[in-house]
Amino acid sequence: MTSPTPTAVEVAVIGAGPAGLTAALVLGRQKRTVVLIDSGQPRNSPATEMHMYLGLDGRPPGELRSVGMDEVAGHPNVEIVHSTVTGLEVTDADTPIRLSTSDGGSFLAERLLVTAGVRDDVSGIPGVAERFGQGVFHCPFCHGHEVDGRRLAVLTDDPENPAQPGLQAVYLATHFSRDVTLLTNGHPVPEEIHETLARNGIVLDHRPVTEVTGTDGALTVCAGGEDLTFGAVFHTPREQSRHSVLGLEIDTEGAHILVDWQQRTSDPRVFAAGDCARRRDDPVPLAFVARAVAAGQAAALWIDQDLFRVRAGLG
Ligand SMILES: Cc1cc2nc3c(=O)[nH]c(=O)nc-3n(C[C@H](O)[C@H](O)[C@H](O)COP(=O)(O)OP(=O)(O)OC[C@H]3O[C@@H](n4cnc5c(N)ncnc54)[C@H](O)[C@@H]3O)c2cc1C
Repeated sequence: MTSPTPTAVEVAVIGAGPAGLTAALVLGRQKRTVVLIDSGQPRNSPATEMHMYLGLDGRPPGELRSVGMDEVAGHPNVEIVHSTVTGLEVTDADTPIRLSTSDGGSFLAERLLVTAGVRDDVSGIPGVAERFGQGVFHCPFCHGHEVDGRRLAVLTDDPENPAQPGLQAVYLATHFSRDVTLLTNGHPVPEEIHETLARNGIVLDHRPVTEVTGTDGALTVCAGGEDLTFGAVFHTPREQSRHSVLGLEIDTEGAHILVDWQQRTSDPRVFAAGDCARRRDDPVPLAFVARAVAAGQAAALWIDQDLFRVRAGLG
């Protein structure tokens, strides 16, 4: 239970995915007082397997989370709160950062680390959201190897990014399958990629997609009233911000908090890491578990150094 009197900590961390858990572990080991607040919705939870993470490749994503939670819980100076941050006040440098949670908790922190991830705005076509992460995949790096040799489809449902599905179809055709269909769902395909699609044998189907049924390995997509079968469907949802901090600089898509090489945001007391953050020099945001772990570690290190300099009077 959290008390109504604010608990003062050195660092508050919002989100216990791979980034937040790693940061809490680093800070816990350096004997910082930390509150790690988590609402229990890690991004890859719909997937049955996690890939490209050394030592746990192919294991359920929950395994990393549960081991991480246990390791962090071993540090009595880190409090894990299972709740949602609903209120946040970051004012002037002399006033502690104030957080409040949906269960009535309240915290004062000297530094804030946002590791709240992003939310996937999955297509509303019936059957897609239920299969997201299990038959309907967002990323050929995370899931391409597992669908090697299958008949694949790429589903377009974001008119604002028209070239991406076509290029993803070509990518899949060059790596994993010679049988790839681009389901444009009636959205136009940019002229400049027509020849590339044709050269790589991509089948174009412009009919409206009304439903996806079946299971991973045997999916049925209804396009223009006809049932088409595929081994897997790729669909890249737009990323939405999960937790915003008023006044911080964000990228042009509005989903990512901009950070420097120390994972520091435009407010010197606020850091961000993992999927919710984007380095200013990154041309595109890259969202993978290993990168979230690395960024969470870097953020914790620089937060600790920051506090060390203040405590030691180094300016
Ligand atoms: C279906 C799917 C499968 C994937 N598979 C892979 C894979 O195989 N390999 C790979 O490398 N990457 C994979 N990814 C990407 C991977 O999931 C992310 O890169 C990774 O989870 C990012 O970690 P994170 O710590 O930044 O955020 P997350 O893991 O999303 O964790 C964020 C945490 O913050 C919490 N939170 C959010 N808002 C609040 C709030 N207001 N208060 C309290 N808590 C809050 C959430 O509940 C969540 O627990 C996959 C993604 C998806 C969508």
